[in-house]
Amino acid sequence: MNHNDYVNKQVNQKNFFIKKKFSQNFLLDENIIKKIVKSADINKDSYVIEIGPGFGALTKYLVDQSKKVLLYEIDDDLIPHLQTLFKDKDNIHIEHQDFLKVQSVDQDIDRYLDQANNVIVISNLPYHITTPIIMKILEESQKIKRLVLMMQLEVAQRLTSKPNTKDYNALSIIIQDQSEAKYMFKVPKTVFQPRPNVDSAVIRLDRYLEKERDPLFYQFVHECFSQRRKTLVNNLHSSFSINKDDIKVLLDKLEINDKIRAEALDLEMIKNLYKLFK
Ligand code: SAM
Repeated sequence: MNHNDYVNKQVNQKNFFIKKKFSQNFLLDENIIKKIVKSADINKDSYVIEIGPGFGALTKYLVDQSKKVLLYEIDDDLIPHLQTLFKDKDNIHIEHQDFLKVQSVDQDIDRYLDQANNVIVISNLPYHITTPIIMKILEESQKIKRLVLMMQLEVAQRLTSKPNTKDYNALSIIIQDQSEAKYMFKVPKTVFQPRPNVDSAVIRLDRYLEKERDPLFYQFVHECFSQRRKTLVNNLHSSFSINKDDIKVLLDKLEINDKIRAEALDLEMIKNLYKLFK
């Protein structure tokens, strides 16, 4: 039985109740599934984590194409399906867990993925927790080097957007500071069961793992964007209680117009400003 029939059978025969609270939209289209896996450039030496495997649409390829796979699935009802589907495979470990509550992903990697330090994450994300999942990985893991993620189209556009576009925001800057962020392709609603209300897209993040992270810089970025319609000077003035004229002097040093909004700053400009601010 192909995957499409398998999922339809489980869902339609009421063996399984779809849980909206877990953002369950299962992928049916085998070509799209293959295209997502291909985007991750996995090979037989790869160590892979999948968040939210569901009925194993992506997992079946990951298990065959990589060295070892670690799954995190929150839903009690999906665990038996996964165990049955992969009972003959010895390169897979299923963690029945809420990914956001995992104490240390890097410790799990040491335990289940041979202490690898170049792990690839692949996920058709639970859309309601897209940002917390990405931030958890970027903030907590030094071992995950690549992420291939499907999410709501608008979020994918935002995370990979460039300055001076309507989507560009603090999260775009933080993600692009830590990784090369690429928009890969759009995925229509029609390839899911059940169909979501929104279109989706896949992005790929290749992290600069060697680079140091400065949490204060990220806080600074958030403050620059705190009120989108306000100028940078006004945002910084209200966030840090600094005199507006002093802020203008700093901007002038960097030859930045004092009427500018944060969305017009590129990564380099915002970093230079942060250095002067410090
Ligand atoms: N990978 C499957 C597919 O593409 O068909 C399912 C994707 S579905 C959009 C999201 C999956 O994430 C579901 O299996 C859901 O149960 C799981 N999930 C939701 N919240 C989760 C969490 N906090 N931790 C781990 N898995 C979660």
